[in-house]
Amino acid sequence: MERIIYRRDKKDIHYSPQIMLHRASSFTSSSFTSFTSSSSVRTLVRTLRGTTARVVARRTTTMASSSDTTRATPPMVEIVQIPALSDNYVFLLRCGRTGSTAVVDTPEVTPIRRELESRKWTLTHVLNTHWHADHTGGNVELKKAFPDVHIVGPRKEKAKTPGVEKIPGIDRKVDDGDSVFVGDVELKVMDVPGHTLGHCAYHVPSAKSAFVGDCVFAAGCGRVFEGTHEQMFASITKIMSLPETTKLYCAHEYTLANIKFAKSVDGQNKDLLEREKRCKALRERNEATVPTTVGEEMRTNPFCRSGDEKIRKFLGMEEKRDVEVFARLRTMKDNF
Ligand SMILES: [Zn+2]
Repeated sequence: MERIIYRRDKKDIHYSPQIMLHRASSFTSSSFTSFTSSSSVRTLVRTLRGTTARVVARRTTTMASSSDTTRATPPMVEIVQIPALSDNYVFLLRCGRTGSTAVVDTPEVTPIRRELESRKWTLTHVLNTHWHADHTGGNVELKKAFPDVHIVGPRKEKAKTPGVEKIPGIDRKVDDGDSVFVGDVELKVMDVPGHTLGHCAYHVPSAKSAFVGDCVFAAGCGRVFEGTHEQMFASITKIMSLPETTKLYCAHEYTLANIKFAKSVDGQNKDLLEREKRCKALRERNEATVPTTVGEEMRTNPFCRSGDEKIRKFLGMEEKRDVEVFARLRTMKDNF
């Protein structure tokens, strides 16, 4: 079995997940190798993610602080990333202790069922980030296939017509701060409106991961369809307030187009130029650029950098508020 142990930066050292990766069911134990650096881990994640990669993160005591070792070990969390439709990503999240398995968003049923069947997993939860059809289109069919499945979605996705649900088959409506348990794995609901009025994200503290739907993308952000620029700015700021090593599972592969826009307003940013090289190489190999991290977005995503002096100067907005700079950037991207 592969075991990858990596050390996060010093201030984060009390959290040192042990990560195990493998590719679908065809991966054998002899295929596994060990790494000790986070960059190697990232490389391997990306190598595997061309098809699907499983990421298992759990707390270990090997690098834990003394106070940490006294806490109960959280359950193993497994995350599987599946491409769907033309550019969507779907994520399976499984509690290693109980076998409970959630799918985050349901653009289409076939790739989800195929992945579940190959792993002999039973779906127990659907977690929707927002009402758009490329995120909820498979809800009803999945519920037919797995009658016990529990569909969870944001309460604020309200239809105008009473009695009509914007999220098909919804069983539980959640609000900001609510907890959703998939087996023993706790997900914290974060309201992040702007793209839609009810859009939410699901933060999994034990896996240092968040499913952010169409709010934050790698090097970009979702279009502001229903909410205001102020709402979207606040939502992105909220996600960026998570620890910087938090992995962000975005719902679309839009990264190269986003980087193209980012370069047009932040062209001197060395981290951004380096990221472009990395992402181009990944896409040439048909591999995913998702997940990203909070830290990476803070360094390279213009929608997270409206306080940056160079971007402000470029826009001639040195004296404006961050939210005004954000709104200008979003409008420019809409017309890019
Ligand atoms: Zn959407």
